[in-house]
Amino acid sequence: MNLPAYIGRFAPSPTGPLHIGSLIAAVASYLEARHHHGRWLVRIEDIDAPRTIPGAASTILDQLAAHGLEWDGEVLWQSWRLDAYQEVLDHLREKGFVYPCACSRKEIADSSLRAPDGSYRYPGTCRQGLPTNRKAHAWRVRTDAGPLPWQDLIQGAQQEDVWETIGDFVLRRGDGQFAYQLAVVVDDARQNVTHVVRGADLLDSTARQILLQRLLGYPQPVYAHLPVATNPAGEKLSKQTLAAPISSEQPAENLWRVLHFLAQNPPVALRHASLDELWQWAFANWDLAKAPRTRHSVINP
Ligand code: GLU
Repeated sequence: MNLPAYIGRFAPSPTGPLHIGSLIAAVASYLEARHHHGRWLVRIEDIDAPRTIPGAASTILDQLAAHGLEWDGEVLWQSWRLDAYQEVLDHLREKGFVYPCACSRKEIADSSLRAPDGSYRYPGTCRQGLPTNRKAHAWRVRTDAGPLPWQDLIQGAQQEDVWETIGDFVLRRGDGQFAYQLAVVVDDARQNVTHVVRGADLLDSTARQILLQRLLGYPQPVYAHLPVATNPAGEKLSKQTLAAPISSEQPAENLWRVLHFLAQNPPVALRHASLDELWQWAFANWDLAKAPRTRHSVINP
């Protein structure tokens, strides 16, 4: 099969409707794919059942369509893919790359230092085998890869040793839920994604994903992490910070704000142009290299 040289994707979690912050990742990944005459896929990351809001996925797809974002092929839903994730986990188990873990959150918290994001590094308690009389609930992957360097198209040279920052991380939780890190790596490979353009809140996940790609012999996509939009108080726009859903009534205005946030300098005169006109301008003028090389930036109203 002849695959296009560029396959990009947008992979929203259906935890609510799109807000302007999530539209940024959609628009940038779309424009970058079109700029390279590539394909742009949409994947609904709906495996985290407690966070999934019924109806949110179809709202997101409607919002994308109303903003003129046209995806290629069928939408992939992660909830259809549980067998594939299990197969990959079994394969990792056969290779000895994963092990069962009996530790409770409290035990990990009591025996490890807290990372800056509030999470705890796993100290490796169950690495050599389960303590006697303890039942496994999670599966963890061994993080012995050493420092993993990669070049981010926006954020520049990166390096992380996952063993030091996070420790062996969970691929399948005690409640049977597969971890985002596993699902995203399996699906990016399955969909032959070559370029991942997404928010810099996921920069800290990238080394874990590269580690899994290496263990599984998958190719490593090119990564580009966009600044995350914050409100003037510096808080990431999200449901928790009460970010308003984008209105499909004013798609051109929303697209203009995204282009402005990404420092593409859309002409002020186009702020109230038609959606078509603004897309034509964006296709002709899109330049990822202009995007601010910061992890976050305030979005103006
Ligand atoms: N589903 C993730 C989110 O909405 C994004 C995953 C990704 O782009 O890798 O935060």
